[in-house]
Amino acid sequence: MKFVYDFTEGNKDLKDLLGGKGANLAEMTNLGLPVPPGFTITTEACKVYLDSGDEPAALRDEVTAHLVALEEKMGKKLGQADDPLLVSVRSGAKFSMPGMMDTVLNIGLSDKSVQGLAKQAGDDRFAWDSYRRLIQMFGKTVLGVDGDLFEEALEAAKAAKKVVVDTELEAADLKKLVTKFKKIVKTEAGRDFPQDPREQMDLAIHAVFDSWNTDRAKLYRRQERIPGDLGTAVNVCSMVFGNLGPDSGTGVAFTRDPASGHQGVYGDYLQNAQGEDVVAGIRNTVPLAELESIDKKSYDQLMQIMETLENHYKDLCDIEFTIERGQLWMLQTRVGKRTAGAAFRIATQLVDQGLIDEAEALQRVTGAQLAQLMFPRFDDEAKVAQVGRGIAASPGAAVGKAVFDSYTAVKWSRSGEKVILVRRETNPDDLDGMIAAEGILTSRGGKTSHAAVVARGMGKTCVCGAEELEVDTKRRRMTVPGGHVVEEGDLISIDGSSGKVYLGEVPVVPSPVVEYFEGRMHAGAQDADELVEAVHRIMAFADRKRRLRVRANADNAEDALRARRFGAQGIGLCRTEHMFLGDRRELVERLILADTEAEREDSLKALLPLQKQDFVELFSAMDGLPVTVRLLDPPLHEFLPDITELSVRVALAESRQEPHENELRLLQAVHRLHEQNPMLGLRGVRLGLVIPGLFTMQVRAIAEAAAERKNAKGDPRAEIMIPLVGTVQELEIVREEADEVIAEVEAATGTSLKLSIGTMIELPRAALTAGQIAEAAEFFSFGTNDLTQTVWGFSRDDVEASFFTAYLEKGIFGVSPFETIDKDGVGSLVKLAAEAGRATRPDLKLGVCGEHGGDPESVHFFHEVGLDYVSCSPFRIPVARLEAGRAAS
Ligand code: PEP
Ligand code: MG
Repeated sequence: MKFVYDFTEGNKDLKDLLGGKGANLAEMTNLGLPVPPGFTITTEACKVYLDSGDEPAALRDEVTAHLVALEEKMGKKLGQADDPLLVSVRSGAKFSMPGMMDTVLNIGLSDKSVQGLAKQAGDDRFAWDSYRRLIQMFGKTVLGVDGDLFEEALEAAKAAKKVVVDTELEAADLKKLVTKFKKIVKTEAGRDFPQDPREQMDLAIHAVFDSWNTDRAKLYRRQERIPGDLGTAVNVCSMVFGNLGPDSGTGVAFTRDPASGHQGVYGDYLQNAQGEDVVAGIRNTVPLAELESIDKKSYDQLMQIMETLENHYKDLCDIEFTIERGQLWMLQTRVGKRTAGAAFRIATQLVDQGLIDEAEALQRVTGAQLAQLMFPRFDDEAKVAQVGRGIAASPGAAVGKAVFDSYTAVKWSRSGEKVILVRRETNPDDLDGMIAAEGILTSRGGKTSHAAVVARGMGKTCVCGAEELEVDTKRRRMTVPGGHVVEEGDLISIDGSSGKVYLGEVPVVPSPVVEYFEGRMHAGAQDADELVEAVHRIMAFADRKRRLRVRANADNAEDALRARRFGAQGIGLCRTEHMFLGDRRELVERLILADTEAEREDSLKALLPLQKQDFVELFSAMDGLPVTVRLLDPPLHEFLPDITELSVRVALAESRQEPHENELRLLQAVHRLHEQNPMLGLRGVRLGLVIPGLFTMQVRAIAEAAAERKNAKGDPRAEIMIPLVGTVQELEIVREEADEVIAEVEAATGTSLKLSIGTMIELPRAALTAGQIAEAAEFFSFGTNDLTQTVWGFSRDDVEASFFTAYLEKGIFGVSPFETIDKDGVGSLVKLAAEAGRATRPDLKLGVCGEHGGDPESVHFFHEVGLDYVSCSPFRIPVARLEAGRAAS
């Protein structure tokens, strides 16, 4: 196996092996762009190292061979005393993990070669600045020295000199700093900073491998659901210098605005600096457009390269570049992260430019992004004091209590508080605080600072570089212009779309995308919102592509009408127990407690017209579309008085020696029917089988409502669904009774109703015997909430609060199985039942109505196993439509 690839040997499709950075460096090299020569050590080498604790035996010789080739190409040797070749060692996993992995620049410098570099560059200051950076980065990332110690020494050197920025330090100061840094290394790491350049390089390579498994990296991977066993590649690249004076510099650029999607010149540039200065947001950058007046030749070349890259990748690219004494070098490119709104805009823009087709456009957006666009926004009209404005780094409207460190962010959010993490700038150690916070606010750094990049990746609201705010993390406060002090715990609001920062809580208004789905805003109108236009077009692409139909879980006409506006093609689950709450609860209580046949019939008779009216309304709201009505499935005690309250009443009456026979009877019934979670007792079909007349009353109400709609020239399409079936016998009994009632109603109303009867598949036994159950069912609807509960043995109402956090932290699952279908377990039962059901009855209709029906990843799974439809809550319908379209293209 080959473990090392020269940049000329790879290409962009080798991300698994070369990581994203390595694959794209190779691609740019092969496009003829100015990339400094170098080579990539594969992820396979990293995997061997992580598995065995040592690098593969062949690696050393391969690295040597590539290094020799590199030295020949560059005409100098690594660390050569009179003219050293210097290299950077950078990590690069398959998926970009901003700030997670380590980079060491300037490898090859030593006490000797620093002199050679100074002579070659004709610049002492530059050489000593490069050397101190090497010791600092190497000390921190390779030898594990606390980075603050170097920072403090640097601050002290600046203070001694009475200067503010590090460029004001001169060669002699930096030389002293190098001595200080070497001392820090010796004391903290217990060894000297290595003078042998090859040793530096090898140790740095191992450090990159090791950094795959830092806590930060693991946490990030869990968050982003990146598998833990991919490993990282390592890029060894000849150094070019942005810190060689004012004709040098470094920057980042986007081929389009990652926030709006508009084409233009977007990015930041920092004169006389090395790469990490920009990303860390340490010094303030200038907008990329200013490069034109600083260095027109490099600027023009960069514009040309950006066009080449965008046409080649057919997507927004982000770029890191360096200018060394007027010569432009490309250090990195990748398909850039973007906001949700920009993703939709860019996808349609690229279709219009003829770069991609509709199917590809669907791959450029996600349901999660669409969901993000449906969040409410701040009300522009609200009279709340704006106290600052930073860079709109990641959109959204976040309100919360200001906290100034990650620890507090995590602690407060665990106790249910909403917090905004306020920092001068963030670094990878802030990751868990960023996850816990509603939003992130920084006073330094640009659109490409750590805070901005990570927040965008997480879909979290972020305002960065709000310079007027004076953040004092030590005293846990910030001072806003005018002198007002925001203390820890004060409410603030930040708008990641405009960059505005407010004191107090700003009210929110609905998103234009929701207004559009609701029909209150129209695409195609002259002043139509650009975003709405893009969403409208992408939804049309998805609807044309998708095979899965999308229905709604809705129990009343209002929800049904909204679902229709959002594009629902029917109701997949009407939970009738929701129709029995409120005033009607008492009628149900009487039914449950009835001692005699007559009492029971009375309460059923009272319920029938109410139920019928519910269905008339629902069927007319969904006229022409299927409506699946599920017969009653609650734990019975939900309809009875609260057990504690009733016990108190009985005890009081007893002590006062008042009559309390009725209460006592009620209390006994409540005790008898009370169930603890997981509520798998007298529920669903079991209830229908033990309370005579209950299901037939509901069936009659459905049939009469359908007949009434039919006679009024409507087009009702009711389907009757039996819950919690475990065996075909249960279904057969209910079915027989239902058929009788339907025939009676048809005869009495002179209609032919064509009501279909089907079942939910919610129990493992139902899934395992689906072939038999299909004999008595015209359709299956997978109740994946209960199926997940029963397959895992998790009580669905308890476990998320008790131990799921621990399970997620330990990586037992990356996401709750109640949220995303567990394909291997629950999913394989769904697949098995779908196949067995269709084997018995080829035209069996298959759907899903558990919460998973609106979850992006699960929708793809249901598409793959051949279901006919998914059903989800009305607000998730657009997401399900989009994901169904993506799954099919
Ligand atoms: C289910 O179990 O997936 C389902 C839809 O039913 P409910 O959530 O009402 O139990
Ligand atoms: Mg259920």
